[in-house]
Amino acid sequence: MAQQYQLFFVQRFKGKVLFDVPMSRYTSLGIGGPCDVMAFPQDESDLADLLAFASAKNFPVFPLGRGTNILVRDKGIRGIVVNMDEGFKEINWADVTAVVGAGVGLGELLKEAKTRGLGGLEFAVDIPGSVGGAVVTNAGAYGGEMKDVIEGIEVLNRKGKKGYVAAGELNFSYRHADVPKDSVIIRAHMRFEKKEPHLIGEKIKEFRTRRSENSPIRYRSAGSVFKNPPGGFAGRLIEEAGLKGRAAGDAQVSDVHANYIVNLGGAKARDVLSLMALIRDMVYKEKGVVLEPEIMVVGED
Ligand SMILES: Cc1cc2nc3c(=O)[nH]c(=O)nc-3n(C[C@H](O)[C@H](O)[C@H](O)COP(=O)(O)OP(=O)(O)OC[C@H]3O[C@@H](n4cnc5c(N)ncnc54)[C@H](O)[C@@H]3O)c2cc1C
Repeated sequence: MAQQYQLFFVQRFKGKVLFDVPMSRYTSLGIGGPCDVMAFPQDESDLADLLAFASAKNFPVFPLGRGTNILVRDKGIRGIVVNMDEGFKEINWADVTAVVGAGVGLGELLKEAKTRGLGGLEFAVDIPGSVGGAVVTNAGAYGGEMKDVIEGIEVLNRKGKKGYVAAGELNFSYRHADVPKDSVIIRAHMRFEKKEPHLIGEKIKEFRTRRSENSPIRYRSAGSVFKNPPGGFAGRLIEEAGLKGRAAGDAQVSDVHANYIVNLGGAKARDVLSLMALIRDMVYKEKGVVLEPEIMVVGED
């Protein structure tokens, strides 16, 4: 299999390619076994070629943004991880709209929008993801979410063919969007609203202060582990179940915010998974609430 990969990558692929790299280097949790191949497509045609190749050979493909909402299991990911963090970084502005590459960081985009006097993305301050990943998870905070600023997305399908999906078809819901299966988002079409930069700055400051008050910043994490159940807060339920500070190996239920699991240094995916199972059991037993994961668990056991 490795030889078949190598021929394509030597002869055709323009971007960087790495073999057998630990996913722990590419996730905010710092956890995850190796992937077979990590490819960094340089542009749309490079990615289209890669997807056509993978489809012809039946190799699985996993699109990766900044790795801030995933837990990669300890045996890693088979097939090709498509790292969107090198190509797809352009932003094309037109009045109050922008076509934004999937690899652009939310922070970079927010900064540019502020300079241009364009509001609407302030909720995303300090959410460490890419635009592509943020669409998939309908990332949000403080009453705002990606749904509010997305008009549509450009995608390449499993065979490398291009398509456009309008926001209406994405059926955005809480931390979810119906992105067509096996597609890679390459750009998002976004709409902002005119707003004085100093007002945008004030909102950013307010949200940043709120975030710094209850986020564990000392250790690595993937943000909130569970979705808030209707009418409640996962963090409060976990705390009331007495689990704040509980550890498995080097994974710990944060003592700052109970809906974060932090990596104290050498945590494995199996440690995080055993804490997640404990949390679900205890919260169900004590509170009768079934918590659904917000982070995506991927890869092999
Ligand atoms: C400290 C911290 C704070 C956080 N706070 C918040 C918060 O307030 N609100 C919130 O909603 N989230 C929060 N998160 C979670 C996370 O940052 C968001 O979900 C973010 O949008 C994920 O983007 P990403 O690029 O890291 O995606 P990844 O984790 O790389 O990927 C997430 C999913 O999207 C898919 N994907 C990524 N890029 C593409 C693409 N181009 N095409 C198709 N599929 C793709 C992946 O395959 C995966 O299934 C936080 C995380 C951390 C570490």
